[in-house]
Amino acid sequence: RNALQVLPKTRYVEDPARRRMVEYFLLQYELFAYPVLPDLPKSIIHNDANDWNLLAAKNKAGQHEVAGLIDFGDMLHTNTIGELAISCAYMLMEREDPLAAAVQMVAGYHQGRPLLEAELSVLFHLICARLSCSVTMSAFGLKENPGNTYLTVSEKPAWALLEKLLLINPDKAEERFRAACGFETDTQPVKIPNQEIVDFRQQHLGKSLSISYKQPLKMVRGVMQYLIEEDGRAYLDCVNNVCHVGHCHPQVVRALQKQASILNTNTRYLHENIINFSKRLIATMPPPLSVCFFVNSGSEANELAIRLAGTHTGKTDCIVLDHAYHGNTNAVIDLSPYKFDSSGGRGAPKHIHKVAMPDVFRGYFRGDDRDAAFKYGKLVQKAVFDIERKGRGVSAFFAESLPGCGGQIVFPDGYLKAAYENVREAGGVCVADEVQVGFGRVGSHFWGFETQGVVPDIVTLGKPIGNGHPLGAVVTTPEIAESFHNGMEYFNTFGGNPVSCAVGLAVLDVIENESLQQNALVVGNHFKQGLQKLQARYPLIGDVRGLGLYLGIELVQDAETLAPAAEAASEIVERMKENGILLSTDGPLHNVIKIKPPIVFSKENADLVVSTLDKVFAEM
Ligand code: PMP
Repeated sequence: RNALQVLPKTRYVEDPARRRMVEYFLLQYELFAYPVLPDLPKSIIHNDANDWNLLAAKNKAGQHEVAGLIDFGDMLHTNTIGELAISCAYMLMEREDPLAAAVQMVAGYHQGRPLLEAELSVLFHLICARLSCSVTMSAFGLKENPGNTYLTVSEKPAWALLEKLLLINPDKAEERFRAACGFETDTQPVKIPNQEIVDFRQQHLGKSLSISYKQPLKMVRGVMQYLIEEDGRAYLDCVNNVCHVGHCHPQVVRALQKQASILNTNTRYLHENIINFSKRLIATMPPPLSVCFFVNSGSEANELAIRLAGTHTGKTDCIVLDHAYHGNTNAVIDLSPYKFDSSGGRGAPKHIHKVAMPDVFRGYFRGDDRDAAFKYGKLVQKAVFDIERKGRGVSAFFAESLPGCGGQIVFPDGYLKAAYENVREAGGVCVADEVQVGFGRVGSHFWGFETQGVVPDIVTLGKPIGNGHPLGAVVTTPEIAESFHNGMEYFNTFGGNPVSCAVGLAVLDVIENESLQQNALVVGNHFKQGLQKLQARYPLIGDVRGLGLYLGIELVQDAETLAPAAEAASEIVERMKENGILLSTDGPLHNVIKIKPPIVFSKENADLVVSTLDKVFAEM
């Protein structure tokens, strides 16, 4: 019942992955168990009922039996269910299937003292909270008493157990506990069958929404780099670069809860959050990028970037990379060959000009061409000349720093430098779309454009900036911001509100406190090496590329012709899903497997993906 008292001590848990895990469990406890406790029965409990406190004696038949219980020093008056929770916390350690062990404990206890349904609803959370308290107190003890090997040894199985419990859906656990006690198990709110959901979506949400996988998944929980499906299965998420610092990261959730319960307004009132968030965001950017605009999505950020460029240059034409995607609103669909050149699209509008994707694997100029960057840059110059020849003018050059929909492309060194020079010479501005790759994902740098040694005039941000909360931003130079100040007010109802800014600030704090950029670098390099080893063994893998935790595997039918193996890519993604790993495909030829997990991804996670891919490639 006092589990929350250890919250201030979680900072003594040094390993960030472990720290966020205990903070996650304590948050779940606070939300879903703590409020129920006052209504549950109380009694005096032993409070430390574990197998070391049992006495055994031989019975007449010569078998050992429990003969007594010792160690009453922890006894107290509290919620009776605490007894079972504490026992479970011990008894589940070192079990292959801790949930099955918990179910046995519940069934056994229920025979002696019937459990109430409400007690079962909190039991799983109490077990996790108890373990979280133990490991946190050990970490605290170690700080006070460095080198205390007793503490490090005894906490080991508790950590291992917590890692297993993290992947269990508490609702599923409750269902199993209820079954063990003979209670009805179908008590969750009436569930809509998947087919009915699919049908409803088709009819009432619009047929243009797509669904991943042949058999759609219905996720009910997200925990760091995992997503948990309704039936209880945990999947390793290698797709979600939105929940950048982990699904339901406790620090981000708490920041959101806290500000949402204090105030949410708009930028017409003064507030510190937007100031603090802007300061932190600007501190990550090279000068002169120092003016922020806050919006609600990546699309809206690019939409605003078009306006900023337009008011600054007085021109309308934009240059984009072939196959690029910049968002879903009118002006940015026009910027996205990925959309306007495929099904339902109407081709490039007059003011939009495509340049070839600087793809050194299958583009015009390839890896063996040392001048590839320069030559691709020349194509941008050619586009500029073409625009001017038509009597038009260049407003902006838009490029993702590492194109995602374009197929997880890494530009050849020097490409953006060349492209930017050519655009700037014509008076245009350069926009870096960091919606997919920003915030430390590329590992070596905080922003993708930094890997190319350039400073854009406008940077657009989305997805990871809010860890799933709808938030976007544009950061630009004072000069461009000044041009935009032309008399027309810029008002954005939700953009920059105190809650969103609190969330954005929390995300930046987590990236820094947990050294997640460094994690992306170390784990990403390790991951890429693992994938390269697979490439050496499977001819289907034409290319492995990427930076940090932004990787791509391009599949080909033939190493010479580079004929794309799109069907194989989809099939592999399906089979990986069957093996509990979520991936997706993209690229103009749909033959690139994309990897862009939450950046809390671990080396062990990477190894699992590589070994599972190995198995799946071998089966193909
Ligand atoms: N830019 C890029 C590079 C993107 O990948 C996306 C979304 N996939 C967007 C912009 C648009 O972001 P949103 O969907 O948040 O509007």
